[in-house]
Amino acid sequence: MDYFRYVKGRLYCEDVPVEEIARAHGTPTYVYSRRTVVDHFHRITEAFSQVETLVCYSVKANSSLAILDAMRREGAGFDVVSAGELFRALKAGADPGRCVFAGVGKTDEEIDFALARGIFLFNVESWGELEAIDRLARARGTIARIALRLNPDVDPDTHTFITTGKKENKFGVDLKVAAGILERWSELSAVRLVGIHLHIGSQILKVEPYVEALTKVGPFLAACRARGHEIAWIDMGGGFGIFYKDKQARPAGEFAAAVAPLVKQYGCRLILEPGRFIVGNAGILLTRVTYLKESGNKVFVICDAGMNDLIRPTLYSAYHRIWPAVTDAAVEGEPPDENAWKGPSVIADVVGPICESGDFFAKDRALPPARRGDLLAVFSAGAYGFSMASNYNSHPRPAEVLVSGGDVHLATERETLEDLVRKERIG
Ligand SMILES: *Cc1c(COP(=O)(O)O)cnc(C)c1O
Repeated sequence: MDYFRYVKGRLYCEDVPVEEIARAHGTPTYVYSRRTVVDHFHRITEAFSQVETLVCYSVKANSSLAILDAMRREGAGFDVVSAGELFRALKAGADPGRCVFAGVGKTDEEIDFALARGIFLFNVESWGELEAIDRLARARGTIARIALRLNPDVDPDTHTFITTGKKENKFGVDLKVAAGILERWSELSAVRLVGIHLHIGSQILKVEPYVEALTKVGPFLAACRARGHEIAWIDMGGGFGIFYKDKQARPAGEFAAAVAPLVKQYGCRLILEPGRFIVGNAGILLTRVTYLKESGNKVFVICDAGMNDLIRPTLYSAYHRIWPAVTDAAVEGEPPDENAWKGPSVIADVVGPICESGDFFAKDRALPPARRGDLLAVFSAGAYGFSMASNYNSHPRPAEVLVSGGDVHLATERETLEDLVRKERIG
């Protein structure tokens, strides 16, 4: 949990007790540790230093400007999947020449937006998209750089919803279709094939699927070169897994040891698009207990945050460690594993206020007995938390705070009730 640690039963983010943040900014609030973000970014750049690597932080994991700014300052490029994400990255000062654009459904408007800004690379997912980019680039009198996104049909052994490189997934093109695209390349005039893109999934806990994917695309890479395309880049995407519960995530060095030699062997430079690995454990969701209730033989801890703030438990059956931010027990360091916890506990469902049975953060979880008003920390909530938050049930979206040492920066103001209806008109 990196720079989130207990000291004498009180949870700190870096040098700040999180209860102070809750007092100043209310709840629910996402709290991020800048040091953790930066530290994880450099774990990747250092691990992959043996091959020339452009690390493009995946904006969708956490697209807050303050986070993007922190990444840019460390030298990151950006991986975007919409014009909106590119807009955000540019707002945070990104160099478009270090941005890559993926996604199966780029519209003409989005493609043109990216061309106008001088994006470095389009990760292209179909022939139709290639035609669209070619037409729009020609109209602008420019040449667009392309990496073809391949679907290598490998199983990354992760949750179905975050598996992207199996043949039944909508992402990329299989090797046969890719060969067909290569055949027809001469029909195009304003695109240049400079790379191959692979992003096989997320929360991947093994290196083998990466190696398998890279190995499988070797013949296609050779075919591209045989036809005169100078393939300079392999974009391996992101997907490196993190610790949520058990310590099964692999260190960046293991991925690097497996991937970098192959990329070098292919004579390519490397692009990586890590999202979760950088921000996942750099954030917590702070929430207050609104009510406790017992019903149907169950105990419910009802919080002021809900699935609209953090949808991962219900969308991906994701596990998040949850622990009181202030405890009487002398907890030190990381939040305790509930199975190892020897203090008093209750088995409870931790739920939110949303009118859905899928609105939960944990089911049948052992926790120290909670009281009304207690502050809870939902850990490992830095990735795919706020960026997936919605106003469902007309809840204003939470605040976001970025902590750096003893400094607390309000990165995103909490939405107000007025914000909920600002764009709406009656009749
Ligand atoms: C989501 C995504 C990523 C980031 O995935 P993580 O698991 O967060 O590292 C990278 N590249 C592409 C194309 C993506 O869609």
